[in-house]
Amino acid sequence: MPRKMTDSTVVYELYARKSQEPDDRQALSIPAQTRECASKFPEIAPSQVTEESFSAKAPGRPLFDEMIDRIERGEIQGILAWHPDRLSRNSVDAGRIIYLLDTGKLKDLKFCSYTFENTPEGKWMLSMVMSQAKYQVDKLSIDVQRGNRQKYEGGGITWRAPQGYLNNKATLQIEPDPERFDLVRRMWDMLLSGAYTVPQIQRIANTEWNYRTRRLAKVGDRPLALSILYRLFRDPLYCALNVRPDGTVYECSHLPMVTSEEFWKVQKLLGKRGRPKPKNGLASPYTDRLIHCGECGCSFTVERKDKRLKSGKVLHFTHYRCTKKRGPCSQGYMPEKSLEDQFFTKIGPISMGTSCWRWVSTFLIARASEESTQAKQIVTHQQRSVETAEKELATLKLMFRKGFIDEHEFIDQRAELLCDLSQGRTPSKSPNPRWLGPALSALSFGHRCAYWYTHGDAYDKKMIVTTLGGSDLSILDRILNFQPVGPFSIMAKHAEYATWSAFAEDIRTYFQEETHQGLFPELQPLPSDIDQMAA
Ligand SMILES: [Zn+2]
Repeated sequence: MPRKMTDSTVVYELYARKSQEPDDRQALSIPAQTRECASKFPEIAPSQVTEESFSAKAPGRPLFDEMIDRIERGEIQGILAWHPDRLSRNSVDAGRIIYLLDTGKLKDLKFCSYTFENTPEGKWMLSMVMSQAKYQVDKLSIDVQRGNRQKYEGGGITWRAPQGYLNNKATLQIEPDPERFDLVRRMWDMLLSGAYTVPQIQRIANTEWNYRTRRLAKVGDRPLALSILYRLFRDPLYCALNVRPDGTVYECSHLPMVTSEEFWKVQKLLGKRGRPKPKNGLASPYTDRLIHCGECGCSFTVERKDKRLKSGKVLHFTHYRCTKKRGPCSQGYMPEKSLEDQFFTKIGPISMGTSCWRWVSTFLIARASEESTQAKQIVTHQQRSVETAEKELATLKLMFRKGFIDEHEFIDQRAELLCDLSQGRTPSKSPNPRWLGPALSALSFGHRCAYWYTHGDAYDKKMIVTTLGGSDLSILDRILNFQPVGPFSIMAKHAEYATWSAFAEDIRTYFQEETHQGLFPELQPLPSDIDQMAA
């Protein structure tokens, strides 16, 4: 892709970052990042170079925040960085960058190892790359990674070619499989037409076209499995993009089977999730001992029944009941509809609107930054008092040796100074408030949970119910006992979120406790928030 001319009216700032976090080990050192940026974009003279040693997994980096302020004040309009993950690894900071792009205050981003396009898709991809906090430490050695990176940069891949392509061992690139390329393209066409579901396409391919997978040493020459087909339609390799788990995107040199526009359309058709749909529609969110019987303590199980009407129409019923394994129990059925209604009555109030969520998150980020400044001041003060006490102690020793003071006086004064010293040396609070990340993750979960409870699949529902209410759920006489726990009980109490600041303070207080510092699972953004980002 030809590099676009750089707009000379844009003032850029160079941002380099590396932290002590284990998954930052792979990142170049700060000076190397600065050097790489300078050599990749010699035409850009950044107005400022900001170098920060700070984790980007949670918002609240002081120098990054100052840079954001400069963008908001209009002093700079572009950022230069080695990779998007230097700018952000959490959804709040990612959202701030995307928002600044949307409002036009930020006009351009340039990365050494990533091409950013200022389009809705480009912004979407960027926000995904920037909001991924990567907790997994790569098992691969650095050498293997470097080797793979070279192959990717050359447009190749390091694994088996997907359906419709063949590996070329010499070039490491993939090329169309003459036998299957057109057939797989027809599968994409069928899905794009909107007239076929993935299982229908599977059936037609396997039975009508007699599609068989490529024969390899021990596997292959078989009909297409549904899971392979779902994975196929999710694979950006078909539009010649190699998206690494860390978010890096390489352009491949093989012939794309679909355009990126078609690829995105299919992603939309398949829904937002990458998970394959449950096999036979029998997956239930409320099983696996999630709910207990309030009478006898046995777990509830799911049951499905079909009722055929005289008209021939079949009605499906799903309900839950006590397994009654410990003997007689008088509890009857609980219809799924009624169970979900009861869950929703509790989940609805927790869910806060987008503006409240944004406001409270911003408020907490500001509070964290205040706390961090205060903590740094305390550290400086302590250091100063230690220095003074050390000097006085030296003088005292000298005076004693020279006979200016007697032994009693020396021992008394020394004891005082040693006491000062030990006080000054006790470690003070860490300058980075640890409550911020967990608090933001809880807020984001609260913001999104009601939407995904009604729009998500069985997996989402179960995750939401167990995150909000723990695992101690029971049903007695068709009444569900479900109480939001932890921060979600605070959210439930502030049901109307009448005073956002009081709510924000309650959340902060909650997460300041050492035992409350775990992160919550991350739900997908709401479609309305994505629209806002991409608009
Ligand atoms: Zn029971």
